[in-house]
Parts: sequence; structure tokens; C-alpha cells
Amino acid sequence: TAAVPVATEAKEEVIFRSKLPDIEINNSQPLHTYCFGKMGEVADRPCLIDGQTGASYTYAEVDSLSRRAASGLRRMGVSKGDVVMSLLRNCPEFAFVFLGAARLGAATTTANPFYTPHEIHRQAEAAGAKVIVTEACAVEKVRGFAAERGVPVVTVDGRFDGCAVFADEVLAADELEEDEDIHPDDVVALPYSSGTTGLPKGVMLTHRSLITSVAQQVDGENPNLYFTKEDVILCLLPLFHIYSLNSVLLAGLRAGSTIVIMRKFELGALVDLVRRHGVTVAPFVPPIVVEIAKSPRVGADDLATIRMVMSGAAPMGKELQDAFMAKIPNAVLGQGYGMTEAGPVLAMCLAFAKEPFQVKSGSCGTVVRNAELKIVDPDTGAALGRNQPGEICIRGQQIMKGYLNDPESTKNTIDKDGWLHTGDIGYVDEDDEIFIVDRLKEIIKYKGFQVPPAELEALLITHPEIKDAAVVSLKDDLAGEIPVAFIVRTEGSQVTEDEIKQFVAKEVVFYKKIHKVFFTDSIPKNPSGKILRKDLRARLPGVH
Ligand code: AMP
Repeated sequence: TAAVPVATEAKEEVIFRSKLPDIEINNSQPLHTYCFGKMGEVADRPCLIDGQTGASYTYAEVDSLSRRAASGLRRMGVSKGDVVMSLLRNCPEFAFVFLGAARLGAATTTANPFYTPHEIHRQAEAAGAKVIVTEACAVEKVRGFAAERGVPVVTVDGRFDGCAVFADEVLAADELEEDEDIHPDDVVALPYSSGTTGLPKGVMLTHRSLITSVAQQVDGENPNLYFTKEDVILCLLPLFHIYSLNSVLLAGLRAGSTIVIMRKFELGALVDLVRRHGVTVAPFVPPIVVEIAKSPRVGADDLATIRMVMSGAAPMGKELQDAFMAKIPNAVLGQGYGMTEAGPVLAMCLAFAKEPFQVKSGSCGTVVRNAELKIVDPDTGAALGRNQPGEICIRGQQIMKGYLNDPESTKNTIDKDGWLHTGDIGYVDEDDEIFIVDRLKEIIKYKGFQVPPAELEALLITHPEIKDAAVVSLKDDLAGEIPVAFIVRTEGSQVTEDEIKQFVAKEVVFYKKIHKVFFTDSIPKNPSGKILRKDLRARLPGVH
């Protein structure tokens, strides 16, 4: 008998949304206009405080200084569509440069001033930096390179031959009279990230994407959580990373809060700043939470003014979260989940109090409003339901426009339906809470900093005695993960672990250093030459 045709139910994609209703977001204005939206209420209130010097700037002053920075940068040759490189530790000038460049319709590419010359030159070149703004600790690393290419260098501290001084030659300019005409899709921030694979790429974040992302975090009603103009926010995480630039500086400005800038993490100095300025919000990363949780020098009294601690950029398990909560009972703690390419915030805890939304320990919150999230089977691409782990994908106006000059990588990250594939494995539980359980992508996160294995592998094989190399992560209590290398030596080579470690250490910033070397006969690869990292990770000590 012939089979009877059975009607198949059309499968609908399972899409997760915020528990909060969508809001109207005016994301077609310039980012700086949006961020200074509360100017009428906060003009004379403190906006930025330099934790190191005590210098304080009101909202009106920051607005004015960013207009001066804009005309100063214009005088140095920056115009619409250009890129300014900010190679700075946290300091008020970081904000003046970023907002000034935005007013000109230019983008700021941010980089770590502790990068090696090679790392800095590569990013400056790839981004097409027109001006480099830096400080004493990095100036020697850029001077020669910039002179060769005719790129002006400006320093925010001290005088150096051939470099302009920020206060004299940029900030002393008259205020820019009129902002450039800015299109919402103009790029305003250009952080570098290796994304799901390969070398670092320029992530194009536009005025529209950053306004949307900030609005998702602080606009609309959620009084339990969102920053207010009474808040004092500690800006300790590096502003050159998008987490701090977006969720601390831009979100803090938008809310009209006071932002206390800290240059370098040190527990004693942190406690001192919290007490002196009455810090109420502390955005951290897990290693800082660990240090506070473990330190006998810090007690609840020291951090009594803090109402909220946020942690993101790397996983924080339930045990750590519970240990921290026990130590600092006055504060509430919640995780956020971000990825540079996603603008960066995908999810956050909506409230840390029991009402109106309870959040479980170990969860990194629920998807932000005005966005869609789905979990897909990495093999088939099919959307999965609750409690089924798969690749986390996000869609919304906050995500990047794409990678700079790299349509191929863009296409591999944002699919034709506009979904950004994160390379993270997680699931959504029955309460809409997201739990990240694994990573599909190769990136290693050392204390929240990106370590791209592809970059270290490319460097390792330039060593004359290394035939092949693969870099994978090893779990570490303090750093979260550390990079370790599997090495195939050339025939007859006796190159040692220490020699290899030193070879790498000379070329990369401290957190990309190789911590351990394992010699092997071959690197396992699939037929198309892709390193089988899972197989290598399974060989690591303590991993079964
Ligand atoms: P980045 O682009 O440097 O911000 O790195 C983004 C990646 O960091 C994400 O794709 C995750 O792999 C990881 N990450 C960020 N936040 C969290 C979190 N709360 N829990 C676990 N992993 C996280």
C-alpha cells in the first residue's frame, strides 16, 4: 500500500526576547548627542573624576572639552571617515578624544598601550590611523613608526620630541562650532577582536549600534538596576576594551552618573577610591571578584557604599559568585555577557534584588531588550528549545556593521538573516536565563583579555626550529584560562620550552605569553587543515 502523506507541522524558530518590553530608541542621532541627552539636568554635576590626580570635570566641561578636542583633532588633519588611534590607559583624555573624534564623524580605534610595537603597528596600519593619541608609557613604541608614515603623535602626559602635547595643541583649540553631519551608520568605534576565528579584525561599531546598546542597558524603566544620576561608577576596567567604553563610560554619561576613573587595579587604591568618592556601582571582571573574595584586607565595611557589582567578559561560576556575595553582603552581584562584535552586550541580569526578576547564580542574565536571541545546533543550524545547549546567536540594531575591509569574515559571522553567531555554547532555561557552558570558537580569555591562538601560532612558526604549532587554553584558577602551546620541533632541534616562551614573550603583550610548552610529533588536523583543538585540550594534564 502507498504511504499516506502526513502533514508536517511548519517548525517555527524558537526566539528568546527580554522580559522587559521593547522601548522606543532614537538611534538616528549622533552618539555624543544621545550620551549628553540629560545635559539640562546634570550640566553642573561631576561627570568625570580622575582617581589618580583628583581632577574633576562637570558634564558641561566634558561637553566643552570634547568640542575642543574635535577642533584640535581637525587641525591635525582628522576629518569625517578618518580613524584616530587611542593608545591610552584610563584617563579623562580618553573620553575627550573619543567624543571629539565622534563629533567629526571619525572613528576611534582603541588599543592597549602595553601592546608591543609590533602589535600596535599592525593595528594602526590596518585601521589606517590618521593620528595617534598616547602617553609616556607607550610613546617610544610608536614614534619611529609614526614618523615614517607621517602620522602625528599626541601625548597626554609629558613632552616628547616630535610629539604634540594634548593640553597645548588639541585641548587648547576653540570649541568646534558645528558637529559634522553624521549618518547613523557611520563608524564611531573600531575595537579589534579576533571573533570566532583567526587574527584580530576591526569591529565596526556605528553611532546607531552603540546608541542601541547603551539604551538597552540604561534607558526605559528598571529602577532596580539601571544607572541613575545619583550613581558613582568606578571605571577601572580598561576603556580600550568595548565593555568598559560602552557599559561604563557611554552608559554612565547617558545616565548622568559620575564616573571615577582608575588607571590601574590595586586593591588598596580601589578601596580608597570607593570610600573617598562613595562609589555605588563597580563593574568588574572575574579575576577582580576573585581577588576581593579572597583578600583578608577587604571587608564589607570597605565597600559599603557599593550597591551593585557587575561582572562580565569571562565566565564566573556559581561558587565564586556565592563566595563574593558572602563577603560583600551589602552589594548585589550580577553578570553580563558581551562580545565586541555584538555591540557588545547580549545579556545582563535585569535585577539583583529578588523582585521583580530573580536571577540564579551562575547565569549571565537574560537577553537585552529590543533584541532577539536564539540557540542553534552547531551542526545543523536548527534553532533549539529551552535547556538545550547550542551556539548563541543574537540579532538587533546593536550588533556591528561588520569587520573593516573583511567581507568574508563578516559573512562568516553575521548570516544572511542578520543573526550574529557568537561561537559561544549556552542554553536558556525555563526562566529565560542564559547559561554559558562552553566555547566553540578558538579564542582564549586570560582575565577577560582576548588571546587569539591564530596570532600566536603564526608567530611560533616563524621560529626556525619550529615546524608546526598549536595554541590552546588551559584552565587556571586566577586568570580563568592561560595559553599553552603544542610544538613540533624541526628535525634534530633541541629548542627548549624556555627558549620558546621567551621568543613569544618578546613579541606580545603580557597576557598573550605562552605559559607551558608540550612537545609533540604532529598537530592533529582535519582534512582541510584545521587544528583539532579539542583533541589537543584532551591531552592536557588534569583534563580527561
Ligand atoms: P570580547 O569580544 O573580548 O568581549 O570577548 C567576548 C567573549 O568573552 C564572549 O564571546 C564569551 O566567549 C566571553 N564572555 C563574555 N562574557 C562572558 C560571561 N559572562 N560568561 C562567559 N563568557 C563570557
